[in-house]
Amino acid sequence: MATRTKKGPEDLNLNNIVSRQFEKAAAHVNLPPGLLQQIRVCNNVYYMQFPVKIDDKYVIFEAWRAEHSHHRKPLKGGIRYSLMVDQHEIMALAALMTYKCAIGNVPFGGSKGGVKLHPRDYTQEQLERITRRYTAELIAKNFIGPGINVPAPDYGTGEREMAWIADTYDAFHPGGIDNMACVTGKPLSQGGIPGRREATGRGVVFGLREAFRDPGALERTGLKGTLEGKTVAVQGFGNVGYHVAKILHEEDGCKIVAVGEYDGAVINPKGLDIAKLAAWFQAKKTIKGFPGATKTLANGVDVLALDVDIIIPAALENQITGANADRVKARIVAEAANGPTTTDAEKILLKKDILILADIYLNSGGVTVSYFEWAKNISHMRYGLLQKRADAFQRAQIVSATEDLMHVRFPASVREGLLKGLDEEDLVRSGLEETMATGYQEISAILKKNKKVNDFRTAAFVCAIEKVGLAYLELGVFP
Ligand code: NAD
Repeated sequence: MATRTKKGPEDLNLNNIVSRQFEKAAAHVNLPPGLLQQIRVCNNVYYMQFPVKIDDKYVIFEAWRAEHSHHRKPLKGGIRYSLMVDQHEIMALAALMTYKCAIGNVPFGGSKGGVKLHPRDYTQEQLERITRRYTAELIAKNFIGPGINVPAPDYGTGEREMAWIADTYDAFHPGGIDNMACVTGKPLSQGGIPGRREATGRGVVFGLREAFRDPGALERTGLKGTLEGKTVAVQGFGNVGYHVAKILHEEDGCKIVAVGEYDGAVINPKGLDIAKLAAWFQAKKTIKGFPGATKTLANGVDVLALDVDIIIPAALENQITGANADRVKARIVAEAANGPTTTDAEKILLKKDILILADIYLNSGGVTVSYFEWAKNISHMRYGLLQKRADAFQRAQIVSATEDLMHVRFPASVREGLLKGLDEEDLVRSGLEETMATGYQEISAILKKNKKVNDFRTAAFVCAIEKVGLAYLELGVFP
């Protein structure tokens, strides 16, 4: 990735980038400067180095857990496994979590963790020991717990790691009835929730649907109508990228014309078959050589410069920079990843009237459904268990009464739809849609009300800062 611009090297420190985004919005918020600073800074960071025996060697791992804001508890945020992890990145990602939770009205403060490693360099058994040791370090310093700090998956981690974390926490807290709420994104059989795996991707789609229902947002982009038939390029085909591509393709009729990965990109102007590409990627560990592609690119990031309607960075930060932003032709940048657009890039994109659906709104679906999982874990009851049958019984009575009164029978398929009770996944999706829709309306209202705020990210930050600020004003500052 090129990082030089005409003005010289660009500052790609994610913490500085997020701080600049914050400051731009803070200028439109009526709060005392000291309080604004408190909302911006990261409250505390735990840096650790721990050994794990890998084969016959002692390997020392560097790891972090940052706690950005304690205005709501517990704190929440994913755990990242990547060689790019460093303290600035983790602090920045923790800050984004605070703002994300505030926008979605998820009652948590922001946190983030990471271990500097490349998962592909270790066996499953080694990764398990690293994960358990990292968890033990977090337990020792009180950086994890159902009411303290609740991790979740992020880049390089998934349900498997979350199960190891839950089990380690449980081993250290025998008999703790809420132990499983110490982490979210767990497998379904271990206290997870249906719909969590797809949640971030589905949230991105809900956010895009909101934008396409908002003529004001689309006006400057020149795009019209619905998502149907729109062309899309996705960078990153992991948890988030795969689900966004799949849902946009299957449910919204978008054409996913390109997918970029760490080692290249595949293209088909008629639209890639996402299910087949996923099967290929899972089997071969690369998207290269996919038979359904008509063209390939050597560099995954280049899909962001293709002539499509929407680009979806869903890999890592700093992908659209001052060095490549002028090559972006898409009319919408949908930030599924955290921090994919740098400060310089943003200026260039905004000048071109490109709509940037900012990360702190658009990828908040993951933490939203994590909140549902956490609430389910501490209530020890699955959503809908008590009312599903009662609800179905009531529906059946209404359907029968309507048929008797009207002297008609609903066609079998309609009857089936009317009678079906809502299962847990339906409820999760409904709660996610409501959260994404409400968040969009709140941001949109700020854009309409304050004429000096004229981009989506700044409005999203204003929305978040005002809510966190209100919590501080109402709670006061101890002592
Ligand atoms: P993941 O590890 O499941 O997938 C990331 C994918 O990106 C991998 O397939 C990887 O090979 C690919 N990749 C790496 N470098 C690339 C490059 N240069 N070009 C193209 N592809 C590349 O991670 P994920 O959970 O899907 O997270 C992706 C992004 O979404 C991250 O920024 C993460 O912080 C953000 N996010 C994730 C969640 C979540 O619930 N998992 C929630 C909110 C935000």
